[in-house]
Amino acid sequence: MRVPLIAGNWKMNTTVGEAIKLVKEMLPRLDEIDGVEKVLCPPFVSLAALKELIKGSSIKLGAQNLYFEEKGAYTGEISPLMLANLCEFVIIGHSERRQYFGESGELIGKKVLAALKVGLKPILCIGERLEENEAGRTEEVVTEQLRSSLAEVKKLDGLTIAYEPVWAIGTGKAATGGQANETISLIRHFISQLYNRSVAQSLRILYGGSVTASNSSEFIKQPGIDGALVGGASLDAKQFLSIVKQTSEISQTR
Ligand code: PEP
Repeated sequence: MRVPLIAGNWKMNTTVGEAIKLVKEMLPRLDEIDGVEKVLCPPFVSLAALKELIKGSSIKLGAQNLYFEEKGAYTGEISPLMLANLCEFVIIGHSERRQYFGESGELIGKKVLAALKVGLKPILCIGERLEENEAGRTEEVVTEQLRSSLAEVKKLDGLTIAYEPVWAIGTGKAATGGQANETISLIRHFISQLYNRSVAQSLRILYGGSVTASNSSEFIKQPGIDGALVGGASLDAKQFLSIVKQTSEISQTR
């Protein structure tokens, strides 16, 4: 049984004060929802304060990025070792990192390895752009992203994949549950070829792209979808709580 995971990607939003306020708004109710792993991914600067705030709760923290080197002359970067004491998860290869910061599959692969080496759990994002989708190239694109990002990764323990079609991120134009499930099945099949069937069956694969409280159940109900990476809606305590609650209820009926 794969435990569903709902992760909130706050992106470059919230000051430390705003982050604390947002967590305080959801903390008691979020904490008591069970059967779902709940992960908040605030900006780096809020991780330490939120770690204190969520101490003793069932809520977990993730970072939104890292650099693959342990330390050194890499001005402005954050290393896996620095994050290892602050959070459990780390988003890697988000489409905004690929698009605005030119991250390649090879670089993303190094980041995945570096995260796993210090015991961080990567949430590896993959997904096709609109023109690739329209050209019928979705499978080719996501499998190539997986191939390059996992080239040196021998064991997937701790890793989660988030399938996020780029055309659905922040656009309000989500995929349908059926579309997402279909691509996620292809991804799982590809993972079973790269590794083996049991690795593929135990790997969590999330959907991400304009998930809200109104459409989240459509995704969570799909047999192959193990949760969601939520952007915009994770900045709204009510919506995020509702998404997690619905996920918990659906998972209990499985
Ligand atoms: C994301 O940031 O990963 C994301 C899916 O954003 P949104 O939910 O806003 O589309």
